[in-house]
Amino acid sequence: MAKKKVTKRSWAEPFKIKVVEPIKMTTRENREKAIIEAGYNTFLLKSDDVYIDLLTDSGTNAMSDNQWAGMMLGDESYAGSKNFYTLWDKIKQYYGMPYFVPTHQGRAAEHMVSQILIKEGDYIPGNMYFTTTRLHQELAGATFVDVIIKEAHNPVSNHPFKGNTDLNKLEDLINKVGAKKIPYVCIAGPVNMAGGQPFSMANLLEVKELCKKHKIKLWFDATRACENAYFIKLREEGYQDKTIAQILKEMCSHFDGLWVSAKKDLMVNIGGILATRNKKVYEEARNMVVIYEGLHTYGGLAGRDMEAMARGMDEMVMFDNIKARVGQVEYCGKRLQEYGVPFVKPIGGHAIFLDAKKFLPHLKQDQFPAQTLASEIYADSGVRGMERGIVSAGRNRDTGEHNYPKLELVRLTFPRRVYTQAHIDVAVESIATVYENRNKIKGLKMVYEPKYLRFFQARFEKL
Ligand SMILES: *Cc1c(COP(=O)(O)O)cnc(C)c1O
Repeated sequence: MAKKKVTKRSWAEPFKIKVVEPIKMTTRENREKAIIEAGYNTFLLKSDDVYIDLLTDSGTNAMSDNQWAGMMLGDESYAGSKNFYTLWDKIKQYYGMPYFVPTHQGRAAEHMVSQILIKEGDYIPGNMYFTTTRLHQELAGATFVDVIIKEAHNPVSNHPFKGNTDLNKLEDLINKVGAKKIPYVCIAGPVNMAGGQPFSMANLLEVKELCKKHKIKLWFDATRACENAYFIKLREEGYQDKTIAQILKEMCSHFDGLWVSAKKDLMVNIGGILATRNKKVYEEARNMVVIYEGLHTYGGLAGRDMEAMARGMDEMVMFDNIKARVGQVEYCGKRLQEYGVPFVKPIGGHAIFLDAKKFLPHLKQDQFPAQTLASEIYADSGVRGMERGIVSAGRNRDTGEHNYPKLELVRLTFPRRVYTQAHIDVAVESIATVYENRNKIKGLKMVYEPKYLRFFQARFEKL
C-alpha cells in the first residue's frame, strides 16, 4: 500500500487548552430570526446566538494561566496599588516611555490626548482613520486628513507596507494649512481600516524627519504595535535578527507619545494606556484622568486588571505567540482563496477583510454591501463578522452626506488564542457557500441611524 510522503512540517500553537467554554449550536431558522431582530446589524446580536464570533479581537482574548494567576494578586487599594507600579515598569521596559496614565480602554486615552493637544480648527494627518480615534480628534475640534499611501485603498495591491504614510501628501498638507495648525501626526499600525497592513521602520523614520523639520509632534496608536513589529521582522531588510521587543522599542523611540487599547496586543479583556516622554502632556493627562476614569494609579481599572496587563506584555512580544496568531489568519485566507472568495491582499495581521464590492457587485454602495454580507454569513452558519464600509465611515461633518469609502469590507477578526483550526474550517466553508449563492442576495436600507459611531447601533431592513 502506497503511503503518503512527508512534504512539510506544520506549525502549531505554543500553548494548550486548560479551560473550555461551551458554545450554543443554532439552526438556520434561529439565526434568521435573530438577525431580523438585530436589524441586520451584527453588533446588535446577542452573543448567545453566535457560534463562531469573529466580530472583533478587542477584549475577546483568552488569558494565559500566568495572567489568571496574576488576577489573584490584585491590590485593590484606591491609591498607589502595587499592580500599577508593576505595569508602569513594564511600560518603560517595552514601550520605552517614562510617563504613564492608565485608562479603562483605548478610547479614553484617545479622548485625553485629543483634548490636551488639539485646538479648534486644527488638522490631524494620519495613516488612515480609525473610528474612535478620528471621532475624538473631531470632537476636540480637528479635521482628520488621510495621508496614507494610495496602495492602502486598493484591495488587490500586494504592497508589503500598505500602512505607510505618503510623505508628499503630508508635506502638501503642511504647506497648505501651516505647521502651527498641526499639533501632531497620528500613526497606527497595522492599519485596521486598510486590512491590517503594517508600516515600515524606514517610512516611520521619514515621517519623523519631516515632523522634526516642521516641529510637529508624532503620536502613535500602538494598540497593535507588536503585530507591526512582527511584519517588520519578516519583511524589512535589517530586522530579521532582531526580537519583537527590540523592534517595538525602536519603533516607539521615534514617537513623542502613544496610546494603547490593551484589549488587543496585551491579551486581556479590558484596559488602556496613555504613555509619553512629554512631561507636560503627562501632567495634564494625570490630572484629567481623575475627572473621567479615576485616580491616576488605577484609571478606571481594578488592580487585578493592571496585573493581567503587565503579565500580558511579557507574552505579547513572544515571537511564537504572534506567529500562531498571524498563522491562523493566513490559514483562513489561503483556504478562502481555494474557493475564489475575494478579500484584501496581502492577508492582514489580525483579520481577513472580505471585499464586499467584489463579492456582491450587483449592490450599490448605498445598499450597504458589507452590512448585507455580514448578515448573510451570520444567517448561514452563526459566524459573526463586522461591517467596515459605508456604515462605519459615517457622514461628512460639513455636508451631512454619507462618506463613500473606497473599501467596502466585512472584517473577520480572530480573537487571540480562542478558536481552533476546525472552527476556521467551518467559517471558511460557510463563507464559500454564501459566495456560491451570491447572485440571489438582496441589499439593505437603513431604518435607524444614531448620531455617533453609527455602525454600532444602526438598524436595517431587507430591500
Ligand atoms: C480598538 C482600537 C482602538 C480603541 O480602543 P478601545 O479599547 O476599543 O477603546 C483604537 N485604535 C485602534 C487601532 C484599535 O484597534
